[in-house]
Amino acid sequence: LPGSDVLRPQAVDIAGLLPGSGAEADKYRRGVLAIRAGSDRFRGAAVLAVGGALRTGVGMVKYGGPERVTDQVLARWPETVAVPLDPRRSTDLGPGRAAAVVVGSGRGTDSGEADELEAVLDSDLPVLVDADGLTLMSGKDGRGLADRVRDRSAPTLLTPHAGELARLLGDVDRGDVEARRLEHARRAARSFGCAVLLKGSTTVIAHPDAPAVVNPTGTPLLASAGTGDVLSGAVGALLASGVPVVEAALCGAYLHGRAARLAHGGAPISASDLLDGLPLAIAEAR
Ligand code: AMP
Ligand code: MG
Repeated sequence: LPGSDVLRPQAVDIAGLLPGSGAEADKYRRGVLAIRAGSDRFRGAAVLAVGGALRTGVGMVKYGGPERVTDQVLARWPETVAVPLDPRRSTDLGPGRAAAVVVGSGRGTDSGEADELEAVLDSDLPVLVDADGLTLMSGKDGRGLADRVRDRSAPTLLTPHAGELARLLGDVDRGDVEARRLEHARRAARSFGCAVLLKGSTTVIAHPDAPAVVNPTGTPLLASAGTGDVLSGAVGALLASGVPVVEAALCGAYLHGRAARLAHGGAPISASDLLDGLPLAIAEAR
């Protein structure tokens, strides 16, 4: 690949991108984020995604999910605003309408979830699609969801790991993606006409109209269950506060990697620990 098409920043100046740095900040200007993550089977994904958003400085999280999951989210994060699960209401959320949506992490792949993703993609908001949302978009019975992504005018960000990207592309396997991460991330960005953040040993961000970017802060400390859910919330917070999609993806991945290192000084962490690392990473960046 021509070097000029790939940015490899050593450090990223993210201080100015973080929500709510100005005196005029209020919860709406900081950004309202709708999160449609978690399910009865994966309740923790909702707790982690909501936490990732709150600890990145979002103004408000509106969470919609099954009752038991909502209870658990509220028990850990009482500041969350619970909203109806009804897919048709995924983005039209009353006063303080959402400014961006995160959908898919631990969400499941039943028809209700496909309806929800369809409604979210039909909105005019920036949307981050993760995990089960990507699975719903994949394969022949993708219900035209991939076409909906292509037709969107608002920014879309897909956040697959290598296996999810292989399924989205449909013509390669996980090993092929791992072997040529940049190439396949860019191919997906062109094919879906949107931003793609490919997670894994080296996180890369591709966009059809911008150079690809390699995140410098990745660490194997992140290789455990639930860390991707925290990332979806963190990037969602930045999208909700109005950060452009490639910058939001890079800034979120950057903080996520630093949070992993700072949480326990380089000792192993769990995804929950990342939530305590995020404030340290943000303090370091300011
Ligand atoms: P997920 O695959 O959704 O669980 O997300 C896992 C998170 O951990 C992503 O942010 C990955 O980039 C990160 N991650 C996983 N394995 C590694 C690794 N070996 N080195 C750096 N980051 C990793
Ligand atoms: Mg994941």
